[in-house]
Amino acid sequence: MKKNCNLALHIVLTSLAMLIPQLSSADWYKDQQNIMGTVIRVELFHDNASVAHAAINDVMSEMRRIDRLMSPYKPNSELSQLNAHAAERAVTVSAELFKLIKLSLHYSELTEGAFDITFASAGQLYDYRKGIKPSPAQLQQAVEKIDYHHLLLNDKKISIKFATTGVRIDLGGIAKGYAVDNGIALLKFKGIKHAIITAGGDSRIIGDHKGRPWMIGIRDPRKSGSIKGTVPLVDSALSTSGDYERYFVRDGEHFHHILLPNTGTSAKALRSVTILGPDATTTDALSTSVFVLGPEKGMALVEKMEGIEAILIDQHDAMLYSSGLLTQNKPE
Ligand code: ADP
Ligand code: MG
Repeated sequence: MKKNCNLALHIVLTSLAMLIPQLSSADWYKDQQNIMGTVIRVELFHDNASVAHAAINDVMSEMRRIDRLMSPYKPNSELSQLNAHAAERAVTVSAELFKLIKLSLHYSELTEGAFDITFASAGQLYDYRKGIKPSPAQLQQAVEKIDYHHLLLNDKKISIKFATTGVRIDLGGIAKGYAVDNGIALLKFKGIKHAIITAGGDSRIIGDHKGRPWMIGIRDPRKSGSIKGTVPLVDSALSTSGDYERYFVRDGEHFHHILLPNTGTSAKALRSVTILGPDATTTDALSTSVFVLGPEKGMALVEKMEGIEAILIDQHDAMLYSSGLLTQNKPE
C-alpha cells in the first residue's frame, strides 16, 4: 500500500514537474538562418519551448526545400533543369513550380510585361557581387529573349517549353514571398497566433506583437543602417524592393538587380518600393513590378488593386504614399 502511495505521489510530482516548465515558458522564440541567398528570420510566441523550436525548424526546412526546388544557382534544382532543357523539349515540372510560374505570368499580364521572369535571359549576364555586366552587344542579343510569351505552358501535361533558345527564367521576384507564405501556413496549421517570418525584404505577420502592431522599418536607400520610417502591421504582409540590395557602381552608374524587361538594364525611376497587402507572394511580386513600372504607372496599378497600399521612395529621395495610407494614419 505504502509502495503504491509513493508511486502515485511520484507520478503526480513528475507530471507537475513536466507541466511547470511548459507553463512558465510562454515566451517569444526566434532564430535566423542564411537560406535562399538571404537572411530568414522567424519569431513566434508560444507557451511550450519545444513546440516553438520545432515550429521554427519546420519553417527553415520549408525555406530550404523551396530553395532546392527553385534556386537558379543550384544546377540540380527543378528550375535549373527547366532552364537547361526547355528550349529543346517540353519539360514536365512539379505542380508547385508550374503554379508559381503560372502566377508569375499573371503578374506579367497585370503589369503589361513589367514583371517578367524571363528578365533572367539578360539578368544571368550580371554578377553584382563581382561587378560584372554584359557588353552592349551581349545585352542586345539577350534582350530579345526577354518576353514571357516565350514560355509555352501545357496545363494538361504540367510541362513548359521555351519558344526559342537563350531564354532563362528566375523566380527571384516572387519566390521569397511564396516561401514566407508557406512558412506562415505551417505556423497557422500548428495553431500559432503571434509570429513574423521575414525573408530578406519580404515579411508576413500572424497576429500582433505584445498587444501592439509589429513595427517594420523602411530602410533609407542611401544611408545604410538608417530608416526612413516605420509601418505598423497586424495580420498582413509587406515587401520592400530596393536598388541598394544587390548592386555595384561603375563610372558613377548604379547597376542593380531589378531590370527593365525591354532594355535589360536597371530600373532607375525609384530607389525603394514597399508594398503592403494580405500575403507575401502578392506583395513580393508587386514590389518588383512597381519598381519596374516607376512612380506614375506603379502607383496607378496599386490604386486599382483592392487591399494593396504602397510607399515609394523616388530618385530625389521623396516619399510617395498610396491614397489608402494618406487617408488613414501616415507611417511615422
Ligand atoms: P529581393 O528581395 O531579392 O531584393 P525583390 O523583390 O526586390 O527581391 O526582386 C528583385 C529580384 O527580382 C531580382 O533579384 C531578380 O531575381 C528578380 N527580377 C529582376 N527584374 C525583374 C523583372 N523585371 N521581373 C521579374 N523579376 C525580376
Ligand atoms: Mg519582389
